[in-house]
Amino acid sequence: MEKPARKFVVGNWKMHGNLAALPVLGAIDAAARETPAVDVGVAVPATLITAAWQTANAIHVGAQDIHPADKGAHTGCLSAPMVKDAGAAFTIVGHSECRAGRQESDDEVRGKAEAARRHGLSVILCVGEPLEVREAGQAEAVVRAQLENCLPADADGAWLSVAYEPIWAIGTGRSATQDDIAAMHAVLRETCRAALGPAGDGVRLLYGGSVTPANAAEILATPNVDGVLVGGASLTAETFLPIIAHA
Ligand code: PGA
Repeated sequence: MEKPARKFVVGNWKMHGNLAALPVLGAIDAAARETPAVDVGVAVPATLITAAWQTANAIHVGAQDIHPADKGAHTGCLSAPMVKDAGAAFTIVGHSECRAGRQESDDEVRGKAEAARRHGLSVILCVGEPLEVREAGQAEAVVRAQLENCLPADADGAWLSVAYEPIWAIGTGRSATQDDIAAMHAVLRETCRAALGPAGDGVRLLYGGSVTPANAAEILATPNVDGVLVGGASLTAETFLPIIAHA
């Protein structure tokens, strides 16, 4: 399969935004319409999925997490068919804030990706190491194992993206260096290829962790970086639109 050509720029609004934030989404949507060569997505809080879907035409609206089961006694959780029904086109799974907060295992993360796939959602599967693992020189081994454990066997680039988000870079203003990103993304590409064969070349590899208008161009120009997952800087049009323009 060809290497993925289209960049994917995704905002992750986390626990930010209510109906009053819809004009921001409208501005992002307008920018996406003017940048047809780039795929743009925003993972909004679940309370905004339907309103976002009604507001936006040119962006992909996503959920931030789902439960691996389709239904059941899971108070406070949302399933893949629920977020799909609400208007989501994709979901993030395995974000480090979910893995840590809910003691999520790699098996659960893979289950979430499989559930999303069963119900026609695209998936952004997050992996990344804590600072002590990087300082111990174990980052590549740990992230490789994480991806191997989380990757559904039949995945391909038509529905799966992988986001490398070093935990120490998330929300800290300290993004990984271009060399570190290039080295890790080469490992992710090899891992996808080894697990999925030629389909592994089509999986888009995103970088996330303190992406800003100032560093986006360099990050997006890094080998094997097919897009970015942006937290804080996706919350305003002033900071997110320039990142889309760099893709
Ligand atoms: P950040 O968050 O851009 O605010 O570092 C990225 C993420 O957690 O997806």
